[in-house]
Amino acid sequence: MRRTALANEMIGHAYLFVGDEGMGKRLMALRFAQALSCEAPPATAQPDSCGQCRACQQIASETYPDLLVIQPEEDKANPQIKIDQVRDVERHMIYRPLFSSRKICLINDAERLTPSAANAFLKTLEDPPDHSLFILITSHPMKLLATVRSRCLTLRFFPATSSQVEGALALKQALPEEDAKFLTQVSGNRIGLALQADAVQTKEHYEQFFELCADQSMASTTDLLNKAEQLSKAGQCSDIVDWLSHGLRDLLLASIGAQEDLMLHHSHLDKIQRLVEDIDPDQLFDLCESLHTLEQAPIRNLNAQLVLENFLLRFQQVIHRHAA
Ligand SMILES: [Zn+2]
Repeated sequence: MRRTALANEMIGHAYLFVGDEGMGKRLMALRFAQALSCEAPPATAQPDSCGQCRACQQIASETYPDLLVIQPEEDKANPQIKIDQVRDVERHMIYRPLFSSRKICLINDAERLTPSAANAFLKTLEDPPDHSLFILITSHPMKLLATVRSRCLTLRFFPATSSQVEGALALKQALPEEDAKFLTQVSGNRIGLALQADAVQTKEHYEQFFELCADQSMASTTDLLNKAEQLSKAGQCSDIVDWLSHGLRDLLLASIGAQEDLMLHHSHLDKIQRLVEDIDPDQLFDLCESLHTLEQAPIRNLNAQLVLENFLLRFQQVIHRHAA
């Protein structure tokens, strides 16, 4: 689609990139900007970018003078794109581009435009400068003003297949097959997330599950309470649920005799088999279920440490007696 538009020089003034988080929408928007601005485009049948020239590099680092990236203020509880930011967009976009033939504005999480900002932006979209191109990115298109949506050409992003994501990781980051498979699985085939993740750090994060399984000190209640305190202070509930749920999922799969290639932790297959030896899958189901409470703790205003203590007590009863 992008390449067809590029090849025919039929570039509109506004695009809306729609798809779930981590699908690579922002990455694609930057590639689009590169293809339009590249100073040494490769001589391929379809327009593309070199990835090396000043324009391509500055676009990748979002420092290119003819590219403006707008996003909600992240540190706020309810991040929004305010009218002042839209005024900046107007001021920036009105001037002709310095290096490229187009001035490109990328609006990330566009559904977070406040109503007044969205209305102000609509005026710009209704009469865009000739040299301008707007790319709005959102996971929640229905939260955008219908009048803004209707002025954009919508491109939908769908999840890639696991082999596509693995292929992209092998190509872009030269990852070994096993690491590429790991990142593909933990990202749920979301290519944007997978490409941003660091394989070593991500694996370390998920390793915590096996550390917890092997942690004999958890046999004492005091140590267990300390562990809950330490974990709840070290990370967000969602991060803890992440590695706990993937670890438990592997145990559950092993306990019902599922295929090994469905599991995440291939390097721990022996350990997993030993852990599930006398475990009833129902107990693992219950443990997985109780993770929901931990996941919901911040939303329901529950004390995360208390919820985690409760979870670890059950975890200990089910799993810990089997630990190696
Ligand atoms: Zn280039």
